[in-house]
Amino acid sequence: MKRICVFCGSSPGARPEYLQTAVALGHVLAQKGIGLVYGGANIGVMGTLARSVLERGGRVTGVMPKALAKKEVAFTDLADLRVVGTMHERKQLMADLSDGFIALPGGLGTAEEFIEVLTWAQLGIHEKPCGLLNVRGFYDRLLGFLDHATDEAFMAPGHRAMVIVEASPEVLLEKFSVYRPPVVDKAGWALKLNGIKN
Ligand code: AMP
Repeated sequence: MKRICVFCGSSPGARPEYLQTAVALGHVLAQKGIGLVYGGANIGVMGTLARSVLERGGRVTGVMPKALAKKEVAFTDLADLRVVGTMHERKQLMADLSDGFIALPGGLGTAEEFIEVLTWAQLGIHEKPCGLLNVRGFYDRLLGFLDHATDEAFMAPGHRAMVIVEASPEVLLEKFSVYRPPVVDKAGWALKLNGIKN
């Protein structure tokens, strides 16, 4: 894996463990020689993560929409800060540059970005691993929703199984290295549940 995209909060969160795990992830990425791709801000979990990669000599690519550069305090010292036109361009470029996706704790933006790459995975648009760093059970409720959607036959069990969940950055990255994409075809699965043969 050359680069991994990490989605995370522009706020620091209410507990020190969120930033501590960002630092641990940044150090492991640098140590493994895996470049970080992220949203390009110098605040919150995002800023802590980027600084922790840099302090261990790692590589960081930030992707920031022009309109947000001031509001989100762009990390202007980054050697590789890409300024794009829109939020959609930001997500597309982050995805194109990366070999896998991780969400650290964050808010709506983090959840939206992570769920979007999951939807792309279930449609087979990419075959890259997607994992949650479930610090202090932060994502338990999101995982509860995914379980519920699966139990209620809106999500295929094979697609539910592709979400890798770990509390340790090191273990999560080990799982990424042996990840195999699901063989379930989303459209075919939905057609079958509709009683339509394809
Ligand atoms: P948050 O988790 O809400 O603090 O947001 C984390 C990051 O996600 C911030 O840099 C937001 O600008 C970014 N973000 C929020 N919504 C979107 C979106 N629709 N597309 C791309 N990035 C987004």
